Amino acid sequence: MDTTLDRRDIYADGRFQPTTSTGTVPVVNPTTEEVLGSVPASGDQDVDTAVGAARRAFYSGPWGRATPVERADAMDRLAAALERRGDDLARLVSQEMGMPLELSRFNNMFGPVSTLRYYAGLAREFQAEETRTAVNYPGRTVLRREPVGVVGMIAPWNYPLQLAMTKLAPALAAGCTTVLKPAPETALSAYLLAEAADEADLPAGVFNLVTGLGATGELLVRHPQVDKVAFTGSTTTGRRIAAICGDKLVPVNLELGGKSAAIVLDDVDLDAMLAQLPFLTFGNSGQTCFAMTRFIAPRSRYDEVVGGLERLATSQVLGDPLDPATTMGPLVTERQRARVESYVRLGTGAGARVVTGGRRPPEPGRGYFFEPTVFADADNSMPIAREEIFGPVLTVIRYDDEAEAVAIANDSDYGLAGSVWTGDPEHGLDIARRVEAGTFGVNQYIPDLGSPWGGYKASGMGREYGPEGMAAYLKTKAVFTPLATSD
Ligand code: NAD
Repeated sequence: MDTTLDRRDIYADGRFQPTTSTGTVPVVNPTTEEVLGSVPASGDQDVDTAVGAARRAFYSGPWGRATPVERADAMDRLAAALERRGDDLARLVSQEMGMPLELSRFNNMFGPVSTLRYYAGLAREFQAEETRTAVNYPGRTVLRREPVGVVGMIAPWNYPLQLAMTKLAPALAAGCTTVLKPAPETALSAYLLAEAADEADLPAGVFNLVTGLGATGELLVRHPQVDKVAFTGSTTTGRRIAAICGDKLVPVNLELGGKSAAIVLDDVDLDAMLAQLPFLTFGNSGQTCFAMTRFIAPRSRYDEVVGGLERLATSQVLGDPLDPATTMGPLVTERQRARVESYVRLGTGAGARVVTGGRRPPEPGRGYFFEPTVFADADNSMPIAREEIFGPVLTVIRYDDEAEAVAIANDSDYGLAGSVWTGDPEHGLDIARRVEAGTFGVNQYIPDLGSPWGGYKASGMGREYGPEGMAAYLKTKAVFTPLATSD
């Protein structure tokens, strides 16, 4: 393996500098089970260096004085530098976590670049001040929207570059400075983002990178000079981070887990639905936070729906993510596969029926592969219907009438996403109004850059994407000014 993948540096203050940590974290290729490289397990000195650089850049560097248009120009340069690394990024992430190459290109290059350009556009239009006529006195209020300061960003491994960019791009547009702690499983690819920031000539300290396990993330969250935390990851970690931010009284955005329901109505065009489902079910080996994993199907068409999902599962081509024929790679780690296997046991133990899958494939004999799995005859009280498995496992639940279907969809701790599949899209919209989820799709589910995205209930707090995603990095100041005699 190429030894340059063993990183012993962090990116801070506009340069790669040696880590002060002696600990390292290996990055394992889940397809080959071989070590791909390693990164530092950054300790408090590294974190302090990175946060200190971000703080100086915010308070005394040029970023704090830059106009929104100057920030937008820098973001466009970063987008171009990232685009130039697109092939390397896509390939590296596929090797780090097993995402098929085409999906990786879309999510680790095209998506992040589009996100940067979208927020650069919002920065160009940004008006920091607005004037309101005062209600309580003769005068006016100047309302200012100011950047929150230094942002600690913590990303997961499942869409590593995109989920770093949903924080970085709006934070930069707002005028914040940043420190990223990527997931250990995909930390090598984060160095390509740092290289792009370096090439794009972002002012020193605007973007900084530290690496390591959860302990490094927690050092960043706890750091007294971090003014805001943006996190995507599991609900368990999110609760812990929220508690720390509550104690510090700093704002936090949390994008957490899900158990999204797909409500199938009895007038569904099944073929049209199945055509939309490959990515929404088994894409990225089911390791997608908004994956539709709970199918709620009418008794009258239950067997047809189960049969359709079975065909979808058996049509997946498992293999090397770098092979263009592959539609599904391995799971990210051995631990993740063990987690999926334990849920399959819980499902069968509770009386659900494995229609297809439920085991490791006999071939290729190495790699953390698991067969796409469909459970039928499940009810909503089973762990396979209630808990996030984060693997290629679908659970199909029966209902008798529409009110029951909506009640089952809402009977969940989560509320990240959902969808309805029907021959009558207007009626689908009516179902959307009744489901408790932050995002919802009618006969499709496609998150949109221009609209807020995030969860209800245990799926999170706050929103990413859209202008709302930028507002999360701004704070408001009201300046009360009396009427000048000339006014
Ligand atoms: P995770 O919570 O284990 O880790 C996420 C990140 O948090 C990693 O970088 C990790 O090192 C760091 N971390 C762990 N403990 C920490 C702590 N105490 N303090 C600070 N940082 C800490 O999650 P994961 O397994 O990497 O990711 C999968 C989870 O992410 C799933 O639950 C999935 O649903 C969720 N997810 C949510 C969204 C969303 O937008 N809602 C998107 C993708 C993934």
